[in-house]
Amino acid sequence: MERKNLWAPWRMEYIRGLGEKTDCFLCDYVSSPDKDADHHVLWRTERSLVVFNRFPYNNGHMLIAPRRHIGELEQADEAELLELMTLTRDCQQVLHRAISPQGFNVGINFGRCAGAGLPEHLHLHIVPRWNGDTNYMAVCAQTDVISQSMSELYQRLREISQTEGFPRL
Ligand SMILES: [Zn+2]
Repeated sequence: MERKNLWAPWRMEYIRGLGEKTDCFLCDYVSSPDKDADHHVLWRTERSLVVFNRFPYNNGHMLIAPRRHIGELEQADEAELLELMTLTRDCQQVLHRAISPQGFNVGINFGRCAGAGLPEHLHLHIVPRWNGDTNYMAVCAQTDVISQSMSELYQRLREISQTEGFPRL
């Protein structure tokens, strides 16, 4: 008996969507480019995503992640690793232009015991620092103050990116 296939390509989006339902916000961001402004996705490159941390330690706290849902550096290929570091450089530059940090913490947490909130999807943190900021943050920073400045800073970094041509991959 001849087998008939139902041609239903629109199902692919649904099926892919099911596959991507991972409780991974980075994968959600990767798969919804139309919501970049809502998600505060600053840049999309071929292999990576640069986003604001929703729970920032400091103003301008950014995350750089490969698009692929991988948790370990050993799973990343050379091109992904190169983008990770190149985007770190570019992120520092736009943050310098926008908010003039006096220092940065840049790092990756592997495993929950090391502080990773999302250990399944590799991401690098960039945290701008200022002299005395820990005292200031502990005493003065309210959640809504940070989220307000997050949207403003997002717009500012988008402008700088456009006028100055970032990221420079
Ligand atoms: Zn993911």
